Amino acid sequence: VKPLAVYVHIPFCTVKCGYCDFNAYAGMHNLAGRYAAALVAEVDSWAGVLAGRHISSVFFGGGTPSEVPAAHIARVLESLARRAPLLPGAEVSLEANPGTVSLEQLCGLRLAGVTRLSLGAQSFDPAELAFLDRIHSPEASAAAVRLAREAGFESVSLDLIFGLPGQTPAQWERSLQQAIALAPDHVSIYALTVEEGTPLERRVRSGEVAPLDPDTVAEQYELATDVLARAGFEQYEISNWARPGHQSQHNRAYWTDREYLGVGAGAHGYLGGERYENAAHPRAYIEAVNRGGSAVARREPRDTLVEMGDWLSLRLRLLEGFGSREFEARFGTPLTSVVGEALDRCRAAGLMESSEPIRLTRAGRLLHGEVAAELLAAAGRSTARPASRAPA
Ligand code: SF4
Repeated sequence: VKPLAVYVHIPFCTVKCGYCDFNAYAGMHNLAGRYAAALVAEVDSWAGVLAGRHISSVFFGGGTPSEVPAAHIARVLESLARRAPLLPGAEVSLEANPGTVSLEQLCGLRLAGVTRLSLGAQSFDPAELAFLDRIHSPEASAAAVRLAREAGFESVSLDLIFGLPGQTPAQWERSLQQAIALAPDHVSIYALTVEEGTPLERRVRSGEVAPLDPDTVAEQYELATDVLARAGFEQYEISNWARPGHQSQHNRAYWTDREYLGVGAGAHGYLGGERYENAAHPRAYIEAVNRGGSAVARREPRDTLVEMGDWLSLRLRLLEGFGSREFEARFGTPLTSVVGEALDRCRAAGLMESSEPIRLTRAGRLLHGEVAAELLAAAGRSTARPASRAPA
């Protein structure tokens, strides 16, 4: 039985943060009940895919999944479990905004089968939280961790954002230390990016906000690497650190080329080697599901070059790297014949380890995007044609 990971998108938020370009909407909570019913109907429409499978992980992401009643989450989990059993010990994660959690609701989520809470703390500096338009205070993040433990969550993760305009290394380290003091099991850190079309982008364009220069952002990443290691966290992915036994199983499915079903507005899925995307707007999503079950708005035709690029880029995110044989088994062609010279260049530049497994060095982790682009360009130039189509 092939395991399957499931992503469920909940697109509602109290406020749309100025830096956010996720598929998330403020002021639409009145749709939550109809949306939950549509999620259940969409799960039913995937019955053929779920039949005979076991679910290895479920991830409720958003948006802010903690903003919908726990009963809605329970309904979706029940509908999934009716179609395919969850493997024993399957990770069921839910993203929560510290400003939206209560003990009652967390107990409800725990009871529904959620095992892991991922809290968007983002910063422990009130001015930084205000800059990010976050609706919660540092104290609310601390309280949310306590409540999560009280509700029985054995795995709690904190998200933090660095590289904020004007942020000093000392400020960033204070946030890290306050996060660590709450004894989370997992920490994810992300550099603030100025996304197109966001209010933050407009503020940067008008000169009101000056982004940090890339060298300072890189320094802050290095600082986090040291601080988290000293606190006993093991880095296992470019943005993720965990205590033993607390790596995100669901995200590992993405990084290791495993299939996943995506349900909900704008959700992406990856089935049989093909990627698809659902209708993005919650209303369009609900209407599509109500019309005929499926909300798929776009399918990406399979393209071996794109698959190779995705595979390499995602695998290099994991610190464990990969063996060149794995690539050959997946694509039917030796890695060296596709990206051999580019690999040598990355190694010569000190960005890639010189022997197997193939993985980024500490310096290379700062330049993951550039390395992935270099490999993808090399794959495109390569004359080597895959011997066979990639297996599903
Ligand atoms: S809470 Fe998260 S998903 Fe919602 S707007 Fe803010 S950053 Fe985006």
